[in-house]
Amino acid sequence: MGHYGLLLSALLPEIRFEKDFSLALHTTVGVGGNTAAFLPLSRAQLFSVVRLCERCNVRYFPLGGGSNVLPSDDGFNGVILSTSAFDGVSVDGEHVTAECGVGVGKLLSVCKRRQLTGLEFLAGIPAKVGGLTYMNAGTADGHVGDCIESVTFLRAGKVYTYTKEQCQFSYKTTVFQQFPCVILSVRFALKKAQEGEVFENISRMLEKRKHLPTGKSMGCTFKNPTVDLSAGKLIEDCNLKGFRVGGAVVSPRHANFILNDSHATAQDYISLIEHIKRTVREQTGVRLEEEIRYIR
Ligand SMILES: Cc1cc2nc3c(=O)[nH]c(=O)nc-3n(C[C@H](O)[C@H](O)[C@H](O)COP(=O)(O)OP(=O)(O)OC[C@H]3O[C@@H](n4cnc5c(N)ncnc54)[C@H](O)[C@@H]3O)c2cc1C
Repeated sequence: MGHYGLLLSALLPEIRFEKDFSLALHTTVGVGGNTAAFLPLSRAQLFSVVRLCERCNVRYFPLGGGSNVLPSDDGFNGVILSTSAFDGVSVDGEHVTAECGVGVGKLLSVCKRRQLTGLEFLAGIPAKVGGLTYMNAGTADGHVGDCIESVTFLRAGKVYTYTKEQCQFSYKTTVFQQFPCVILSVRFALKKAQEGEVFENISRMLEKRKHLPTGKSMGCTFKNPTVDLSAGKLIEDCNLKGFRVGGAVVSPRHANFILNDSHATAQDYISLIEHIKRTVREQTGVRLEEEIRYIR
């Protein structure tokens, strides 16, 4: 846990470091212990941290909005890399380039101001550009990869720019899940909108999301097994709505959301996820696969 971070922080004294970074406070699910974290302020600082981690064989975990991750109660055996300082956005013509730490709210307000359409389906998703891209986040109205022209990232000390095809976007998967890397920035190819169109689309998307559960969660916990088979429906059909382990409870509104009633531990979540997978497998024969990423 902390001792790797402390060692690295001694070698990088100029870079902001927290030895007791609270995973519960920096994730939407609100569970998890404390761990070591670097909070670099520039690309040069980010590169130094990653270089040192790679040289010292210390694992690093880039953290965006923390909205699709389940931390461990024991923290993380490595260092968290906060991307929150990387929040620059630039526009040229119908292209928007956003750094990894730009939140959905800021991204959409730039699109609205510059009358650029394409990303409105992201409205209401509590995420950052790096996390959206890594996960190929989206809804029935579209996935972020559809609007991406290229992604610039750091891997093993080198900066690469991949085209959309090289990113291998498909349902909840991307090439970035295959190797350790830090997505630095993303270039979106959008279209000129009519006056008021972006605002209207965003309002419509937010309206559509009103039925979703509120409260602490990671959004959908499991991937849909196929296009026509939703994980939520399978869980609901197994009568698991409202089922709980400790403070983690299957949302009565949407069975793919697991809510933290404020007293949950990460272990409650892990036990409940195992229970759901086992029950669905036994009752329907379907093997559910997590969409969420574990920090462990
Ligand atoms: C209430 C709620 C509603 C949601 N609704 C949706 C929805 O409609 N559609 C949907 O697809 N998802 C949804 N989600 C899930 C989540 O918002 C998405 O998966 C989102 O893409 C995660 O982005 P993030 O910035 O929070 O990433 P994080 O949770 O911080 O990280 C997720 C993964 O991305 C990696 N990562 C993050 N930044 C970088 C980077 N710069 N470089 C490399 N790797 C990086 C992390 O290491 C981790 O493995 C919802 C979540 C919540 C809580």
